[in-house]
Amino acid sequence: MRRSFVFSSAVLAMLLVGCAMPGNASSAKEPPSEHGFAAWVAVFYEKAKDAGVSAATLNTALADIQLNTQVLERDAYQPEFVKPVWGYLATAVSDTRVRNGRAKFAQHSALLKKIAAEYEVSAPLLVAIWGLETAYGATFGGFNVVEALATLGYAGRRTEFWQQELLAALRIIDQGDIAASQMIGSWAGAMGHTQFMPSSYQARAIDYDQDGKRDIWGSYGDVFASTANFMQRAGWRQDESWGAAVALPADFDWALADRSVAKTVDEWAALGVKPRQGKSLPSSESEASILLPAGHKGPAFLVLPNFRAIMRYNNSTAYALAISLLSDRIAGGGKQRFRWPTDQQALTRDQRTELQSLLTAKGFDTQGVDGILGANSRKALRAWQLKTGLVPDAFATLEQLQRLRLSP
Ligand code: CA
Repeated sequence: MRRSFVFSSAVLAMLLVGCAMPGNASSAKEPPSEHGFAAWVAVFYEKAKDAGVSAATLNTALADIQLNTQVLERDAYQPEFVKPVWGYLATAVSDTRVRNGRAKFAQHSALLKKIAAEYEVSAPLLVAIWGLETAYGATFGGFNVVEALATLGYAGRRTEFWQQELLAALRIIDQGDIAASQMIGSWAGAMGHTQFMPSSYQARAIDYDQDGKRDIWGSYGDVFASTANFMQRAGWRQDESWGAAVALPADFDWALADRSVAKTVDEWAALGVKPRQGKSLPSSESEASILLPAGHKGPAFLVLPNFRAIMRYNNSTAYALAISLLSDRIAGGGKQRFRWPTDQQALTRDQRTELQSLLTAKGFDTQGVDGILGANSRKALRAWQLKTGLVPDAFATLEQLQRLRLSP
């Protein structure tokens, strides 16, 4: 819930336009400064007080904070190069993370199984989230959450959002759950072992050990129960899996491989979709989609509603796939080797933007040119691929960009 619980694509889109919003110090005449920050904190102090936060909490939590330039640098960072999905998975589901996950699962087995049963979720799922968010508690991010959120609330790319999170953080301190000095998290304010944003904490955190504090920094019971509660409320179905890797038939209609296309598992089986391992596809009464994270030259996955539930934690298919594969390994599953199209270069941000411009100019409207290939861009790309006689897998490649440049 670190980065991308914050950075759901909708939020990311808002972050990108954030500099045009009113009340944003970075678009004001003066650049962010210690002096400007102190003045802003003084105003926010009154707002928080009016919103019901006690003076005692405000005096402690806001006393020693400073403008954190490291936070602003992270907020402004827009990488030109993005890791391809296979590179991300190699790190996210590394042998080390699997081994450590199995050790942590064994160490906390009784507590994890008890909590998973109570909240009707999967115990290996909880361990996988823990493993991907903070390497099983190895690092919470190291930032003072109040300072980070105040810095972003003053001069970040989407001040209103950060100010709401800052207010939630102050309320948590006010409730006595954690001292301001102990409230440690990421640069973006995601806190504790499984990186809850303050607003998610307020909605989902659980005092499982009943000591009066919802301690997601120090109590394993609170950490696991809070994460389990989040996943239960996100719609996790205990009697189903996330899905499975599948093999597609040679005559598969690639246009069906899209998250917007849902069919029952039986319907996919009738179309020739087969399990990659084992004898049968995962059983589910619900609708499933086919996911091609690296296009038609890469592996295919049948994803069930639980996959979407994982995306509520972090709105990224690569993240959800990593959690899915890691939880399977932590549960004892063997290593699956996938054939990724590693010869394909991932498009840079400039190239993605160019792709969107070219598609739109040729009548395949991407509904905006922002360098982010979301559902609208994939739809436009697929339509162009179909018209051009290419495999309509909606996966952008450099080869296709070059073809678009040359076509009239
Ligand atoms: Ca507690």
